[in-house]
Amino acid sequence: MNAPLSSLAQVHPDQAYEQVSRVTHEVAGELARRLRQHTQGDVRFDAADRGRYATDASIYQVMPVGVFVPRHVDEVGVALDICRQLDVPIVARGGGTSQCGQTVGVGLVIDHSKHVRQILEVDPQAATAVVEPGLVLDHLNAELKKHGLWYPVDVSTSGQATLGGMAGNNSCGSRSIAYGNMVHNVLGMQAWLSDGSLLDWGPHAQSIGRARDIGDFLAKLAHRLAPDIEAHWPKVLRRVAGYNLDIFHNQNPRPYTADGSVNLAHLLIGSEGTLALTRQLKLQLSPLPGTKVLGVVNFPSFHQAMDAAQHIVRLGGPGQLMAVELVDRTMIELSLKNPAFAPTVRTALIGEPDAVLLVEFAGNRKAEIEPLLDQLEELMGDLGLPHSVVKMVDDQAQKNLWEVRKAGLNIMMSLRGDGKPVSFIEDCAVPLEHLAEYTAALTEVFERHGTRGTWYAHASVGTLHVRPILDMRRDGAPKMRAIAEEASALVRRFRGAYSGEHGDGLCRGEWIRWQYGDAIHHALRDIKAELDPLNLLCPGRIVAPPRMDDTSLMRFPPSYQVIPIQPALDWSAWNVQNDPRTEATSAPGSGGDPAHGLAKAVEMCNNNGHCRKFDAGTMCPSYRVTRDEKHLTRGRANTLRLALSGQLGPDALTSDELVDSLSLCVGCKGCKRECPTGVDMARMKIEVLHQVRQKKGLRLRERLVATLPDYARHAARLSGLLNLRNQLPWLATLTERILGISARRSLPRWETHHFFNRGTMGVSAQEVLASHQPVVLFVDTFNGHFESETALDAYRVLSAAGYDVHIAAKTPAGHGANQGHLCCGRTYLSNGLVEQARAKARSLLTALKPFADKGIAIVGLEPSCLLTLRDEYSVMGLGEDADRVARHSLLLEEFLARELKAGRLEALKARLSTINQPILVHGHCHQKAFGVVPDVMEIVRLLPGAAPRLIETSCCGMAGSFGYEQEHHEISLQMAELNLLPALRSSPDALVVADGTSCRHQILDGSQRHAIHVASLLARHLR
Ligand SMILES: Cc1cc2nc3c(=O)[nH]c(=O)nc-3n(C[C@H](O)[C@H](O)[C@H](O)COP(=O)(O)OP(=O)(O)OC[C@H]3O[C@@H](n4cnc5c(N)ncnc54)[C@H](O)[C@@H]3O)c2cc1C
Ligand code: SF4
Ligand code: SF4
Repeated sequence: MNAPLSSLAQVHPDQAYEQVSRVTHEVAGELARRLRQHTQGDVRFDAADRGRYATDASIYQVMPVGVFVPRHVDEVGVALDICRQLDVPIVARGGGTSQCGQTVGVGLVIDHSKHVRQILEVDPQAATAVVEPGLVLDHLNAELKKHGLWYPVDVSTSGQATLGGMAGNNSCGSRSIAYGNMVHNVLGMQAWLSDGSLLDWGPHAQSIGRARDIGDFLAKLAHRLAPDIEAHWPKVLRRVAGYNLDIFHNQNPRPYTADGSVNLAHLLIGSEGTLALTRQLKLQLSPLPGTKVLGVVNFPSFHQAMDAAQHIVRLGGPGQLMAVELVDRTMIELSLKNPAFAPTVRTALIGEPDAVLLVEFAGNRKAEIEPLLDQLEELMGDLGLPHSVVKMVDDQAQKNLWEVRKAGLNIMMSLRGDGKPVSFIEDCAVPLEHLAEYTAALTEVFERHGTRGTWYAHASVGTLHVRPILDMRRDGAPKMRAIAEEASALVRRFRGAYSGEHGDGLCRGEWIRWQYGDAIHHALRDIKAELDPLNLLCPGRIVAPPRMDDTSLMRFPPSYQVIPIQPALDWSAWNVQNDPRTEATSAPGSGGDPAHGLAKAVEMCNNNGHCRKFDAGTMCPSYRVTRDEKHLTRGRANTLRLALSGQLGPDALTSDELVDSLSLCVGCKGCKRECPTGVDMARMKIEVLHQVRQKKGLRLRERLVATLPDYARHAARLSGLLNLRNQLPWLATLTERILGISARRSLPRWETHHFFNRGTMGVSAQEVLASHQPVVLFVDTFNGHFESETALDAYRVLSAAGYDVHIAAKTPAGHGANQGHLCCGRTYLSNGLVEQARAKARSLLTALKPFADKGIAIVGLEPSCLLTLRDEYSVMGLGEDADRVARHSLLLEEFLARELKAGRLEALKARLSTINQPILVHGHCHQKAFGVVPDVMEIVRLLPGAAPRLIETSCCGMAGSFGYEQEHHEISLQMAELNLLPALRSSPDALVVADGTSCRHQILDGSQRHAIHVASLLARHLR
């Protein structure tokens, strides 16, 4: 290896990155070179990559010198050696969901989450597992299920949090009252010190060599400081500040080890990557709870709820009480406003409570734990609140309510405007007997500072999350400091823990000394100096931290500016300000955003990392296959934010880096629905592509795709010739070379006799306007030109149901299929041609308005086309007509489901014959984004004998033209292989229903099965 160059470790983290990079340009180059030479990992040092790792779920932003994504775990050790030689600090990172700035810092960020995530060993008998640090908790638990085991530190971010990150933060789950925190559930670790030595961290008594020496050193310190530890250490379960020196004199209500001995791994838990780099963890597993019941206690006042918690936690035998979770009035109201959640919430409410506590018990059998709900009811009676408990024994009802609690929080996070709920005192923990007094006093503090907070979470352990709304670009930082000072005084008064769950990071590091006093604080410094004398691992955390309100470390400092741009779409709904006391927002367009709302829409991403998910739902297909921060909704939002604020240099919005970061976004709109703050990257991509096209124009392939609706009818005349492309491999290769359309794909077949040249069909415009059972069928370019049978089937089904069907056409008087086909403009939008799309939209609206004016349903077949009318049209400046037409535009399945509910489908039902085949349904992403999939299922069930099964899929991977593009062929199939294609293979006899044209094509290419539209399913069973 080469000799060390100049030093980075001495650079204080509050120095702006530009200063650091000038000083260390040479070091950075050498670091990247050596990493590339000695590892196979990804070495990312460009501005956009560094920018994507400059933030986590906190308010902070610090540019790292570079990012390293190791291929396997031992490359972490190699990177550590290189960093030591070059004196470059290291910031270890898992999912980057820390709320306090733990994972931001100068130096090299090492992302463990992509590759370093193996389960190395599971011992079901001993109930232990050995894992690598980048493994996500949910992924571990999915694997453990078959053994009847789980790892019970069930953090809310279980789908994103890595075991290494959880250990780094000493994370705590909702059910910590039953299972404890991370520190209570780790048996051992293997971790590198900054000098490169790899140590086994386990029971002190059995440790040898350097680990033993460290243990002895710690024991001596702890012994000397025993009176200080006794005096200053908070006596609460939730306490995560500093280093766990109390493992030698346990102050936690729960023992750290079963036999009370000292385990040295527990020193590293909560050390936030400042003492060692974790190579692997040995975890203590627990048996999966057999079954659960839930009691929802309704309180007339928040104070009573807080006061009752101390009594409720005494209920149940060992391990039976799982959780006592708070939901306050604001959350209840927010949930009641949401039509999807309101029915579930109502099942849990008695009258209009000011707060509810969700009290969960677990046991082997329901009969064993149901009496605990009676005891809860009795207790509440004794506390003067008889008949205040709603008992939920049914598993689904319980699950629904937990979902709502999660969603309520999400709604809270989606406040528009510069004031945002800010994490900094969000997890103070106080003894339960003081909870009521503490929350009341803190509420007064908020009021004094002109803000308020919504309370939620873990009443069982005295940790209540609360995030006051602050505007960090204006007076947020001083207000934050003032509130923190007052909150900490309250925590001291009630002998609680200032840092109770989410760690110290940048925002609570300076309170460690305050919490523990000088003597212990010095001891923590000694520990850091003993284990990391080079100050290489996350310098400036836990010991010698910066001020929490140092605005130079913040994502939105007062100097934050946005580059003025004129967007093509209307983002004014985001261009607002809010009142922190009432959360009321100002009028659209009044927020003062130089990017007319686009920047504020992008800034809605608070980096919580929820898009790094793999469970049900769509978001985010490109991350699901790449596991790459760059190809994640969060990564894209960060790149855009940096570009819009000039932090990636001039013209970054139209730069290749930005286009590259959006290149795998398939525009599925999964984020629009599933991102807690509603980041709609599909729409943002349209805007960026528009800006790019304005500047750089369009490539031939993009032009051909975008303008397809214009030339389709001419091309159809040459169908024989054009279809040769699918038969002659050399022609496919040639088109790949010239156009970049994958030769390995078949292309949709042009039809000579297509829907639009079939002649007159359906009733005229006049007739439908006068009809008692009218419907307008809008046939899109794809179904009309490539799969006209689907359009005809829809016509047949609607006619069989007794509707007078008018085929929407350009010519107002037209009523035939060949009167000039209409286009929604989708292909133009997908390619950023907003002006052309607007022209198409205007023409479509002119044709459809007369029907919308009369309240006639406009029914479409292709989800991405029809739903454009309800989505993008609302931001294209199309005026009132667009809103009116959108109100009446429905997908066929939505229309039929609506008519079924109204009892108007009897004629159709009478004509449907029985189906004896299994049916699999794949939902199009836009159907999912608009919640339409249940309607598809309902309509399939119209067929006697139908028992459809929904395939839990993300995007199928075709996504319009994406999967046809030569450079995306592989990734497109990988997306299909996530769930869709395996599900099809496992049911070879099933009929496949898929309403999206491109989904059907992907299914054909990937499985050689012909999927059909729900219209065709019904039409084939018409008697
Ligand atoms: C919406 C939301 C809800 C949350 N709910 C909870 C909750 O219920 N309970 C809770 O406890 N927390 C919660 N958190 C905080 C956070 O999700 C957890 O602390 C989580 O465990 C962090 O995991 P991660 O993989 O994202 O770690 P990261 O944020 O990436 O890292 C966490 C710490 O671990 C260190 N680290 C990571 N890998 C290593 C390694 N290999 N070696 C050494 N150090 C390492 C990092 O340097 C950092 O200090 C929440 C956060 C959000 C945004
Ligand atoms: S895009 Fe949405 S889900 Fe992803 S980190 Fe940002 S706010 Fe969270
Ligand atoms: S639109 Fe789809 S692919 Fe694009 S960021 Fe959102 S979830 Fe990911």
